[in-house]
Amino acid sequence: MSSRALRPESTEVPRLPERRPARRVAQAARAATPVVVVKQAPPFRMASRETHPERTIVNAGGVEIGAGGLVVMAGPCSVESRQQIRETARRVKAAGADMLRGGAYKPRTSPYDFQGLGQKALEWLAEASRESGLPVVTEVLSPEDVDLVSEHADLLQVGARNMQNYALLRRLATATKPVLLKRGPSATIQEWLLAAEYLLSGGNRQVVLCERGIRTFETATRNTLDLAGVALVKQLTHLPVIVDPSHATGKRGLVAPASRAAVAIGADGLLIEVHPCPGRALSDGEQSLDPVEFAELMGTLRARETAAGAQIAAGMGSASTSVVTRSRMSHNGRQ
Ligand code: PEP
Ligand code: MN
Repeated sequence: MSSRALRPESTEVPRLPERRPARRVAQAARAATPVVVVKQAPPFRMASRETHPERTIVNAGGVEIGAGGLVVMAGPCSVESRQQIRETARRVKAAGADMLRGGAYKPRTSPYDFQGLGQKALEWLAEASRESGLPVVTEVLSPEDVDLVSEHADLLQVGARNMQNYALLRRLATATKPVLLKRGPSATIQEWLLAAEYLLSGGNRQVVLCERGIRTFETATRNTLDLAGVALVKQLTHLPVIVDPSHATGKRGLVAPASRAAVAIGADGLLIEVHPCPGRALSDGEQSLDPVEFAELMGTLRARETAAGAQIAAGMGSASTSVVTRSRMSHNGRQ
């Protein structure tokens, strides 16, 4: 979001706490010779900003994520029919979304719940993408599906439940498409970044991180949105970080405020569930916006972005102006 560009970024990269600092101090105290302190790379060395200070920009079907503008990905939890995904694509595009989301392979807690329509849904997604001009993000559940999903999608989502599925991560490391890596519901930030490390070290440098809420003692919301974690990960890594306010809150009425909070804290984008008729959705209807609610939210988000861009253009942040302008131009270029 362009408002971030008003504040110069700190060059100091914070560190996660060491596991055994006390032991190291004791060893140093016992040593007879002077201690030479060697600064070690963090365990997530390729994801770290210490080793890679420039920010990574991920290109998903022509949309640049992490370039300074807010990238909004919107669509249903599940692709349910050809008509449903085409209508959703048309309406989220009209509201100003940058990408289309929709699940073809659904990771469901219960085996009796709707599991997704698989290849048929991928084909409908690709058709909706061609019609609307919106690139597609969709989940890939298993290594065997990576080739097929890559043929139809522009960004491959690793769902929260699969964040530590190492066979899947290793396969995606050699995929030709960028990866959206969701944070596991109980994953620490270090575990999340080490999961990203599997992709980076295996050869796929195009990785976007997605905070989608973590499991805490609180049950009033579906998950707990770790906003401070978003800010911290932006400091620790060079990778773009987006927020999914739908799964993070589980409640339609919280999606707009959580989206605005995510933007305020520095998220590079949002992943929002939108359904033409949330009451009839086959999955996650209670946290899905209808197209009118989504358009209202987009109005507030884009208005803030434009206002911040105008401030920059008025001379309050020349170094970042080109980034904001470039990102908006690439958005406009897809109309
Ligand atoms: C989804 O995006 O529909 C989804 C299943 O998300 P998560 O993996 O975050 O639960
Ligand atoms: Mn969902």
